[in-house]
Amino acid sequence: MTIINLENYNASLKDVYLITGQGVTSNIYVFTGETLTIVDSGNGAEENRIRPKLKEIFSTIPNVSKTILTHFHFDHIRGLDELTEFYDLDIFIHKEEVPFLRDLNLKRIKEINAGDKIMLGEYLLDIIHTPGHSPGSVCLYEKKTKLLISGDTVFPNGSFGRYDFPFGNHQALIQSLKRLTELDVQVMLPGHGLPTFSKVNQQIQHSYIAAKSYS
Ligand SMILES: [Zn+2]
Repeated sequence: MTIINLENYNASLKDVYLITGQGVTSNIYVFTGETLTIVDSGNGAEENRIRPKLKEIFSTIPNVSKTILTHFHFDHIRGLDELTEFYDLDIFIHKEEVPFLRDLNLKRIKEINAGDKIMLGEYLLDIIHTPGHSPGSVCLYEKKTKLLISGDTVFPNGSFGRYDFPFGNHQALIQSLKRLTELDVQVMLPGHGLPTFSKVNQQIQHSYIAAKSYS
């Protein structure tokens, strides 16, 4: 696991950290404010535990008040076990993904929907429903800073999320990518791999074109 202070890469990303993991696991983004907000929680494996990393970043382990899950896949949500063990936190996920969490017996699930706004540290992001990789996948976007948290819907360099998992949908993914091409994005924080900071609109355009060409 590595911790990346994203401000070192882009001055607008103040107090935002990326924790990368080992194996099949999502990126974990940490937004700093009075309390912490975490976007996606990784696969929950021992080597990907979150609290030791928070301690490395902050020296004392701060309170985590909420987590936002871009979708329900195990590599994004299994870290919830650790978070809910230690924190009384709100878990935000799109309403169409809630049924997939049923077995986890989670308290404090808050449904999010397209058009909602959510505060992550200093950022106020719009929820964009981007089905395709999963029915209730979401991206989060802040117009002011042109920041996109893209989950597994779109990745850098013309890549995009798989649509061949159960409940995936190719046509829906194409429409979601089209929607994302309409945004002006300068920073993309994807669910896997490294963030990207240059020519992001072009990269998303390439993803859209590439997804359309698949059949
Ligand atoms: Zn996924």
